[in-house]
Amino acid sequence: MRRCHRCTGSGQAPCQVCFGQGTTHRRLDRFGKPVHDRCDGCFGRKTTRCGLCNGEGFIA
Ligand SMILES: [Zn+2]
Ligand SMILES: [Zn+2]
Repeated sequence: MRRCHRCTGSGQAPCQVCFGQGTTHRRLDRFGKPVHDRCDGCFGRKTTRCGLCNGEGFIA
């Protein structure tokens, strides 16, 4: 077992959809300013389960 290098053992990796922002802005309001929506990838948590270690934090 070695510690996962992607998540450094936390089992959580920055969301790839919002790049760790927790929000996405794909719409513009009527003033032309971006509307921040909660990210669908991480549901606003900013991190997702690490895909490399499946959230274990270690790689066998
Ligand atoms: Zn996200
Ligand atoms: Zn990992």
